[in-house]
Amino acid sequence: MGDEPVMATNDDASECKKGAVQLGYWNDNYISYFVRNIDRRAPEINRGYFARVKGVDNFIQKFISRAGSNAQVINFGAGFDTLYWRLKDEGVVISNYVELDFPTVTSKKCYMIKRSKPLLERIYEQDGEVRFSSTDLHSGNYHCLGVDLRNITQLKDKLNQAEIKYDKPTLFIAECVLVYIESECVNRLLQWISSTFSTGLFINYEMCNMNDTFGDIMMGNLRARGCNLAGIAHCRNLDTQKSRFTSTGWLGSRAWDMVQIYQSIEPTEKTRIEKLEFLDEQELLVQLFQHYCICIGWLNNEFADFDIHI
Ligand code: SAM
Repeated sequence: MGDEPVMATNDDASECKKGAVQLGYWNDNYISYFVRNIDRRAPEINRGYFARVKGVDNFIQKFISRAGSNAQVINFGAGFDTLYWRLKDEGVVISNYVELDFPTVTSKKCYMIKRSKPLLERIYEQDGEVRFSSTDLHSGNYHCLGVDLRNITQLKDKLNQAEIKYDKPTLFIAECVLVYIESECVNRLLQWISSTFSTGLFINYEMCNMNDTFGDIMMGNLRARGCNLAGIAHCRNLDTQKSRFTSTGWLGSRAWDMVQIYQSIEPTEKTRIEKLEFLDEQELLVQLFQHYCICIGWLNNEFADFDIHI
């Protein structure tokens, strides 16, 4: 079947994000430029996305406030993620931002950026000249690059083109990406990062606790769509999520399921979003939360104290 079904998971994620944003779960002025029509998703899906965005955001904010303007971000399998533009709106200054995905996905993203003035203007403002090829975009500090993450040689070449500096504090993000990549390739990638970058943090959002009936149903749904869950072995539980870092040269790691992450969100924010839609299937939401997690891995002690408290 090839990689097409995996690439299509980006369309689903982007549509879910747009739907939740339209209902008021969180603010994103840019997602609409990447997604046109959407079907309304179930309330538990919207709440799941809310918890994911909030949870990941917590670590992004912590990392950037500690690393300062020297920070670099590398977003693996970024799809149509809008974080770069959202950080710009917040006035956050970082030294470099790189998005990586299959060339088929980045070429669509580059095309959409090119034809959407607000997206392009945000890049121009600080970053000066914008250069496009059919799959890649380079500007002063934003790069959207087509690459297969299983190919480290190609990846190194792309990061060099983006002028990534190996001695600067770097935030690596992967949201629902590593599960689609063979475990040996993920291990090689993590090993390469830990032996190449001197300081940094990895934020991985993905499935966990998959060894039960609910996990089987989740995997069955993805496989029915043609997705090869080549990296699923690491999603067995929180320990397997953590050990993929500690076994590949990272100094330490920590992981929380989404039940814990949701509990850590400010009460006022939870009260606000819980009023947005009536949730009939409370149990289903808890099951979804139990089967997703955030795992962080750090390269040095600078980021070792990061926790979920928002
Ligand atoms: N991270 C984005 C988000 O959270 O909205 C997109 C998530 S989507 C579920 C998974 C993304 O990973 C897709 O865009 C897919 O193309 C990308 N991906 C999976 N395997 C990849 C690989 N080997 N190389 C590059 N990108 C990959």
